Amino acid sequence: MTGGSAIDGRRLLARLDAFAAIGATPAGGVNRPALSAEDRAARALLASLGAARGFSISQDAAANLFLRRPGADNGRPPLLIGSHLDSQPTGGRFDGALGTLAALEVLETLEDQNIVTAGPVELVAWTNEEGSRFSPGAFGSQVYATGAFPWGWQDTVDNNGGRLADELAATLAALPQAAERPLGGSFSGYLELHIEQGPLLEREGALIGVVEGIQGTRWLEVSIEGQVAHAGTTPLADRHDAMAVAATIIARLQATVMPADANARLTVGRLTLTPGAINVIPGEVVFSIDLRHPSGPEIDRLEAEIIRLVSETAEGGGCHASVRRSMDVAPARFDKRLIGIVEDMAKRRSFSCQRMFSGAFHDALFMARLGPAAMIFVPCRGGLSHNEAEYVEPHQVIAGAQVLCDATLEAVAALAVA
Ligand SMILES: [Zn+2]
Repeated sequence: MTGGSAIDGRRLLARLDAFAAIGATPAGGVNRPALSAEDRAARALLASLGAARGFSISQDAAANLFLRRPGADNGRPPLLIGSHLDSQPTGGRFDGALGTLAALEVLETLEDQNIVTAGPVELVAWTNEEGSRFSPGAFGSQVYATGAFPWGWQDTVDNNGGRLADELAATLAALPQAAERPLGGSFSGYLELHIEQGPLLEREGALIGVVEGIQGTRWLEVSIEGQVAHAGTTPLADRHDAMAVAATIIARLQATVMPADANARLTVGRLTLTPGAINVIPGEVVFSIDLRHPSGPEIDRLEAEIIRLVSETAEGGGCHASVRRSMDVAPARFDKRLIGIVEDMAKRRSFSCQRMFSGAFHDALFMARLGPAAMIFVPCRGGLSHNEAEYVEPHQVIAGAQVLCDATLEAVAALAVA
């Protein structure tokens, strides 16, 4: 199998422009919420572009959309490549669209060059990756990977009362030319190109991020219980000040966790005080901790450390404390062979590359639990994403798509002989 097939960069850039026009915002971004009219228009355009090249179009019950190009042996599980088409309300034009349209470019390049792959290659556009209209995000890939819809999903509504179940049904009905397919299914590998959504590649001057995995995330809710009392009359020795305890804990965590480990992320993003009056010592403080790390055992260790610090500090401040886990997503480790293929392909093109972990969630997180998966990152200007100013240089777009194409050819051959 030749790995030297050059993609059509100009065609890909034109496609990115065409899709950015669907839900375009005045500030140059994209507002294409999952399962909205704009999302349907983007899906319809993708399906028509695929049909024009003779790819077979199908969608599953989660409205994940697939374009399939057959290979020599169509009994083999397909190599899946893709990303998502939905966006944040003030999203950028590359988040998701880049990986989806680069996957289309790969299929079209194979078609243009009459390349016969060992097995089929399928583009997938996942439903509702962003989760900003309907929670949770990565809905489509989760349903694909688990074979089941999340509990209570029928009752999920958006801010305007729109029901997820209705919008999903309408989205499926809007594409009658797509064949129905069952949920899930085996695949030989999954490759996703995405913008980094962070500043590391740009800072290092690297063109390609070889993604080794996605860091894990654990959410903790810390409750400190003290005693409500008068702000003016209560001397220090008599105070059970829940806020003083919370402030000490937060300051210690900020001074230790991230300074000690460049891979650790700790954020306190929500804090509520009760009763919340200016002249009353708070009797209760509840705050959130968003903890992330590429290593699962390290997340466990940090959580144990947090629990120890919380109880020790609360005791010293005359308060009671508890820590509750409210969410836990284990880190994903990508497939060593696919990671190696991505890295080799980038080097073969003499693209500067760097191994890294993804700080953000992606659909690949769920695919990696089911089979071999890997991701390719390209830089975005200033690390800015989920922002209308999100920008990727044309040569970066083309380099990323070229590596996806080369890696697809290499993977479909390598995984077929496994
Ligand atoms: Zn994305």
